[in-house]
Amino acid sequence: MKQRAIVWFRRDLRLADNPALSAALNSDFDAIVPVFIHAPDELGAWAPGGAQRVWLHLSLERLSAQLEALGSRLVIRHGPTREALDTLIEESGATAVYWNRLYDPLTIARDKNVKKHLDDSGIETASFQAHLLHEPWTVETKQGGPYKVFTPFWKAIKDRNLDAPMAAPDALPEVWSRIGTETLASLDLLPRLDWGRRIRQTWTSGEDGAHERLEQFLDNAIDNYDNDRDRPARHGTSYLSPHLHWGEIGPRQIMHRLEEWLDTHSGKALQDHAASFRSEIGWREFAHHVLYHFPETPEKPLDPRFEAFPWSGDDEGLKRWQQGQTGIPMVDAGMRELWATGYMHNRLRMTVASFLTKNLRVAWQHGERWFWDTLVDADLANNTLGWQWATGCGADAAPFFRIFNPARQGERFDSDGEYVRRWVPELAKLENRHIHEPWKAPAKALKVAGITLGDDYPQPIVDLKASRREALEAFDQIKQSD
Ligand SMILES: Cc1cc2nc3c(=O)[nH]c(=O)nc-3n(C[C@H](O)[C@H](O)[C@H](O)COP(=O)(O)OP(=O)(O)OC[C@H]3O[C@@H](n4cnc5c(N)ncnc54)[C@H](O)[C@@H]3O)c2cc1C
Repeated sequence: MKQRAIVWFRRDLRLADNPALSAALNSDFDAIVPVFIHAPDELGAWAPGGAQRVWLHLSLERLSAQLEALGSRLVIRHGPTREALDTLIEESGATAVYWNRLYDPLTIARDKNVKKHLDDSGIETASFQAHLLHEPWTVETKQGGPYKVFTPFWKAIKDRNLDAPMAAPDALPEVWSRIGTETLASLDLLPRLDWGRRIRQTWTSGEDGAHERLEQFLDNAIDNYDNDRDRPARHGTSYLSPHLHWGEIGPRQIMHRLEEWLDTHSGKALQDHAASFRSEIGWREFAHHVLYHFPETPEKPLDPRFEAFPWSGDDEGLKRWQQGQTGIPMVDAGMRELWATGYMHNRLRMTVASFLTKNLRVAWQHGERWFWDTLVDADLANNTLGWQWATGCGADAAPFFRIFNPARQGERFDSDGEYVRRWVPELAKLENRHIHEPWKAPAKALKVAGITLGDDYPQPIVDLKASRREALEAFDQIKQSD
């Protein structure tokens, strides 16, 4: 009898270094059915947000084309997942389902349920490690628990051996025509707004796009990564985050290609830049480790004192922050970059998060949610860690009292105002020395630059110094309740 397998694609939208696909190909199956099942309800509040949905659409389009080029095709189905798999098993006569593991709590629960159901039905199941360098449960402290601090976490794993990535297949078995598929359009992932077009113009999603992005980074930016990665006006980072989120490239492939590239390029400085870049991939591992061991953290602070923090409930402030209309140039530039491109530079993510949670004292979950809907790289592990880090309530977080002053951040990391001018063109003609604090500029300087504050660009919605003081007082309240 013919043996057939289903390879269930999820956030591993690639053909190379895809262990589930390779395992299916290396077994005795005569046929393989690649399927993507759209079941956002199973992810509850953390179903893909607007920008992620655009990315997913484009990425599935690419994966379909890649599979077709190798003689196969992508079968698309609507959830619920269990029912979709049951139907496909019946239609195809498959005896096995293979997939790659993910680590967010709702996916883990769903996958356990699906696995039990398939096991009970006599279907062979196998899951594989593709999304991380190491499984979260394989890293533990000397005392035997999870890590809550990055440096020892990374020290424990950074020199561990990694298997070489698996090559993409040259050809795939045909999916016979009686197996139907839903159309990609039926998933209704694209927004009615023109927003999707801007994402399409800024990014090239898909496996090829991910590898091109990595090569561009190695050719143009890694040699100064440690300096440029903090300068938002420069293209000093890899921009791999959305590709990593959707698994168009895996971290093991990145590490492997980096080593290969370093073999042909030398220099102590280069080694240092490469070590910094590796440690950012390490932060991604850490974020997944924390989410796996503390699955409540997308909603709740890891530091329980923050459950009693006196947040302001400032809805108007939240709205102005979302719109990039706070009157604080660095904050507005970051928020507008996010809206226009689905991405925000890391330095700005830290700055705008600090401003929202400390100067406006809006609860971090509101910022986390806005990022979730607008970032193309929105990732439950990284976004949760990022927000809790910036607020000061998470694993290895910045201490609460270290409140970023957005104007000082601007002077330090955007000293010539290039980034602010790019995203806040109203201020384009303002001299460098005033660009990060236009409210302090003399009337004459504003006039020369053609700006009337309050008309052309908002007055600051909050006084940075006073709000900093109030935030520290609020923090004292929860410290005393310790
Ligand atoms: C408030 C806040 C929210 C964030 N939300 C997300 C998110 O939803 N998704 C996301 O991928 N990253 C998030 N980050 C982390 C970081 O800002 C982005 O990963 C980074 O800006 C992506 O750009 P890049 O790929 O060019 O990074 P690079 O500097 O080139 O880094 C390479 C890769 O390392 C990983 N990485 C880098 N920094 C971090 C970090 N601090 N934490 C975890 N992983 C990291 C990413 O996968 C990134 O693609 C957030 C940070 C903050 C402060």
